[in-house]
Amino acid sequence: MTDLSAIQDLRAALRGPLLQREDADYESARKVYNGMIDRRPGQIVRCADVADVISCVNFARQNKLLLAVRGGGHNAGGLGVCDDGLVADLSRMKGIHVDPQARVARVEAGCTWGDVDHATHAFGLACPSGIISTTGVAGLTLGGGIGHLARSCGLTIDNLLGADMVLADGTFVSVDERHEPDLFWAIRGGGGNFGVVTSFLFRLHPVRNVIGGPTLWPLEQAAEVMRWYRDFLPAAPRQLSGFLATLVVPPAPPFPPELHMKHMCGVVWCYNGNAEQARDVFEPVARFGPPALHAVGEMPFPALQSAFDGLYTPGMQWYWRGDFVDRLSDEAIAAHLQHMRVPTMWSTMHLYPVDGAVHDVAEDATAFSYRNATWAQVIVGVDPDPDSRQLITDWTRRYHDALHPHSAGGAYVNFMMDEGQERVQATYRGNYERLARIKRRYDPDNLFRVNQNIRAAA
Ligand SMILES: Cc1cc2nc3c(=O)[nH]c(=O)nc-3n(C[C@H](O)[C@H](O)[C@H](O)COP(=O)(O)OP(=O)(O)OC[C@H]3O[C@@H](n4cnc5c(N)ncnc54)[C@H](O)[C@@H]3O)c2cc1C
Repeated sequence: MTDLSAIQDLRAALRGPLLQREDADYESARKVYNGMIDRRPGQIVRCADVADVISCVNFARQNKLLLAVRGGGHNAGGLGVCDDGLVADLSRMKGIHVDPQARVARVEAGCTWGDVDHATHAFGLACPSGIISTTGVAGLTLGGGIGHLARSCGLTIDNLLGADMVLADGTFVSVDERHEPDLFWAIRGGGGNFGVVTSFLFRLHPVRNVIGGPTLWPLEQAAEVMRWYRDFLPAAPRQLSGFLATLVVPPAPPFPPELHMKHMCGVVWCYNGNAEQARDVFEPVARFGPPALHAVGEMPFPALQSAFDGLYTPGMQWYWRGDFVDRLSDEAIAAHLQHMRVPTMWSTMHLYPVDGAVHDVAEDATAFSYRNATWAQVIVGVDPDPDSRQLITDWTRRYHDALHPHSAGGAYVNFMMDEGQERVQATYRGNYERLARIKRRYDPDNLFRVNQNIRAAA
């Protein structure tokens, strides 16, 4: 139990509100995106600025409290909230400054990718991120950042030029390739293990419109589609990305009524290249076989980025498992066929390409270690109904158990639940020891442990 006067002192030091169990906003403030997560922190601080973040870090350390740090609150394992301790919620820190001449943006850690897309699109620029605009910039970036632009522009961390951080001892540092280079290396994939990032400096790319959308085939054709996709995409120009998905077609536009609620497989494309060349790039897709739907067209990049926002609203039940994949072998495809029929309309399996520009960066150049993988796979059980929890969890686990032997070994940290230390180590592979040494230097007492935790080297 934290001392009452200490809490009063903290409250007095803050610009943002401090919420406790008796406060009206507490119930909504403790919720994160995944409705399965039900944790009750002692205090939630809605940080207004860096000074509030420093106060939270000092308060948690001095009072030996568990500290959870929240950006967008999207982490499926619920790592943006904890039981009993303190939550430093940065979601009100939403400043963005775009410098169109230098093609960079300074982004505060409470922004979502939708905030960034909005601010940068006005200048015909974009930063590589994910595929859903409500995801937090902070958690996604610190884990790596895999999305529509990865093949053409790299991971989000490959476009991170620097960051401002509050460390475990409450000090503030600006990190980049020249200042605190070890720390800068560690936060590019190592998650929130090393401090609280208060803002990110990103490189931007000239991206205004893209050619994107889904091509769908009946699930019965999944084996053929997967075999074609595994050969086609890695050989395609890097301006083309396309993640493979198994799904149930939602009963809403742009999908034609005859496809509603049908089990299908498909690819969601994003071509970030010359519009005149798009026909040639997509020609093999048409040649492969007549799809049930080919809804691909030119659109503003933020439109593609937010295309799934309406389907995946906050508060649903989520359970997922990930793996990196080098090769989609015939045996792996056979295992997919056994399990890929999704149990609910929102559940899915995605294979996100991580080749192209991602492979330009050396495996030890950042903490993200699976540079030689071809795909990041995620199996996601999702449903709005809490009664479906068991159904989606069992399906995800069974599917993952069947596919894991065909994987590269580790998983993308942002696609992991609480899966234990071995799994964290498998994910960082050869980079783990360096991360553990950096953890010892910057957070020896593991203040930042509500994450995929890296233990300080002995
Ligand atoms: C619907 C959905 C779609 C997704 N799509 C993609 C995708 O396309 N590509 C992709 O790469 N990932 C994707 N993800 C995964 C996503 O990257 C992770 O869930 C990520 O953790 C979300 O970041 P957040 O800031 O929203 O999460 P939070 O829950 O707020 O935080 C996640 C973790 O990051 C830490 N953290 C948060 N803010 C800070 C900070 N300022 N400083 C230090 N540590 C911090 C937290 O402590 C926690 O450990 C998706 C997730 C969902 C639910």
